[in-house]
Amino acid sequence: MLHYSCDMCKRPIDTHDEIRHVVKIEVYAAPDDAESSRDGVEDAALADADHLDDVQDLLERLDDGLVASALDDDTRTLRFDLCADCRRRFLRNPLGVKSGKKLDFSNN
Ligand SMILES: [Zn+2]
Repeated sequence: MLHYSCDMCKRPIDTHDEIRHVVKIEVYAAPDDAESSRDGVEDAALADADHLDDVQDLLERLDDGLVASALDDDTRTLRFDLCADCRRRFLRNPLGVKSGKKLDFSNN
């Protein structure tokens, strides 16, 4: 039988007693950015689209391997096992951003 432990608090997760929660985070360069900025230029962009594609094509051929490997390296898939408590904590602050104030509800 497989044993899991929580990646946040390191507590072993007994899958008989509790649900193991899996967090998957995928980080990658978003190629859509170029597309959307082109949309912003409207009609002029349409007229220039062919030309732009040519330039892009050329650039792609120039550093063919470079671009491909750069994209590969930019993609990271992270996977964590969490216990129920840590799942709740994670969802409250997925990026682990530290706020200046304490999140203890003591001020309320
Ligand atoms: Zn935990």
